[in-house]
Amino acid sequence: MTVILDGKLLADKITQNLKKKTSGLKVKPKLAVILAGDNPASLIYVRNKQKRAEEIGFETLFLPMPKDVSEENLLENIYILNEMKEVNAILVQLPLPSHINKFSVIEAIAPEKDVDCFNSINVGKLLCGYSPYVPPCTPKGIIRLFDNYNIELEGKNVLVIGRSNIVGKPLSVMFQARNATVTAAHSKTKNLKEIALNSDIIVSAAGCANLVTADFVKEGAVVVDVGINRVNDRLRGDVDFENVAPKTSYITPVPGGVGPMTIAMLMENTLELYQIQNHN
Ligand code: NAD
Repeated sequence: MTVILDGKLLADKITQNLKKKTSGLKVKPKLAVILAGDNPASLIYVRNKQKRAEEIGFETLFLPMPKDVSEENLLENIYILNEMKEVNAILVQLPLPSHINKFSVIEAIAPEKDVDCFNSINVGKLLCGYSPYVPPCTPKGIIRLFDNYNIELEGKNVLVIGRSNIVGKPLSVMFQARNATVTAAHSKTKNLKEIALNSDIIVSAAGCANLVTADFVKEGAVVVDVGINRVNDRLRGDVDFENVAPKTSYITPVPGGVGPMTIAMLMENTLELYQIQNHN
């Protein structure tokens, strides 16, 4: 029997719990969100994150910047946020306009306010097996889903498709820390199907609709779909859900799987940074 990994349900529970914890706080956690440019998808993501933060009872500070904002100006704003005691978490929505060096911006965020775990200090800690201030949101949300459904990772063959700094790379590291045997695949990987067929768990974070089809998946495998693709104006993941689901033991839907967990973990990270900064 296939179990649907219900990310929305779990994310709602986490959100309710965060709301309760926040209601007892005199000074509320504050999340600053920087958006440079007018990418419509980014605008929707940012609005949703801000809305969720406010529902929980966090304060938010939204800093929209024009698409021709200079790198210097953007960095200056980050330095100011780093110094503001009442700001606990800083999020810079990616992608940035092409004239801005993404790495300079990420490195400018104070590690103790780096809510996405993008800064190299935090990424380095994650890689070395020390705790970063907070782990990256999407990988953290996926591991939380596994824990919630008691899915064992130790000793499992895990295929992670995609090696981005945001999802694939940190997720591979976090799976290894749970004693899984990880294959990190990418666009130049040969024999992806063969590797997939040998995997107990497949996570696809490629951004490629219909990449994972039923012939890629062995009976009883766990399949997690991170991908977000627009196909004929509909939201699709990387997995051919209808045909793959019957072969799996557990599978995430799109929407309603990893997406809501990512936002819930962003909120949880905001509260955790607040607690670290306030020593409670
Ligand atoms: P990215 O574009 O930075 O990286 C994609 C990775 O997939 C690359 O490493 C590339 O080598 C690999 N890849 C691409 N096509 C492939 C193929 N045919 N075979 C094997 N590997 C292939 O993307 P990202 O930021 O990691 O995001 C990946 C997808 O996940 C996107 O669709 C994005 O929108 C989505 N995403 C979803 C969430 C969420 O919360 N659900 C969060 C972050 C990203």
